[in-house]
Amino acid sequence: MVDAKKVKDMVSKRTSKVVSQFGSGTSKVPPHKHCRICHEPISVKAEPRVCNDQECIDKHEQDDKNQRTVRIAMFVFFGLFAIPYLLTLVMRLVG
Ligand SMILES: [Zn+2]
Repeated sequence: MVDAKKVKDMVSKRTSKVVSQFGSGTSKVPPHKHCRICHEPISVKAEPRVCNDQECIDKHEQDDKNQRTVRIAMFVFFGLFAIPYLLTLVMRLVG
């Protein structure tokens, strides 16, 4: 037989323990960042935002390159639409 009161007691005890742990955790942890690759806590001053793991540094660099490529691609893409539009605008103004 399962003692309902005992179970309820255990659950409430566990809940309060989690809450107190969470409460103290938020106040005690000093300001810090997380590695954007592996999410390890790192120094706030860490720049770029990665830990000392070479794998994370490499991945971050790769991400950086990818982001730059995407930005350039978007710029070119925008240009492909903007230039004909601007040209027709100028043509209309001139004509
Ligand atoms: Zn890392």
